[in-house]
Amino acid sequence: MVKCQRCGKGGLFHKVNDKGFCIDCNRIINLELEAKNLQDDIERLTNNRREQAAMYEEIKSTREKLFNEIAEAAKKKAFEEITDQLNEKQSELNPLLLRKKCTYGCRSRTTKN
Ligand SMILES: [Zn+2]
Repeated sequence: MVKCQRCGKGGLFHKVNDKGFCIDCNRIINLELEAKNLQDDIERLTNNRREQAAMYEEIKSTREKLFNEIAEAAKKKAFEEITDQLNEKQSELNPLLLRKKCTYGCRSRTTKN
């Protein structure tokens, strides 16, 4: 007479599989295994999601940092270009200003004011 390893039921017409479990217990064991696998999947996916969220935050902050650096570099370059243009205009104007006739009628053709 065979007896189920799990529930202990046995009898003349009671069958067990090669592992010693009756049909009902075997079904329960398979469902428990499936539930455990699903639980593992949920845990794995939850961890993945957490990692992805952390990665997203990191990418976002790197992107903001790079954007700020690019904006600062562009501002600095524009300022340098304007300064160069102003210096160029100043050096074009300086000789003209020096050639201006003295308003007091003196003979000097150059004045600083
Ligand atoms: Zn059983």
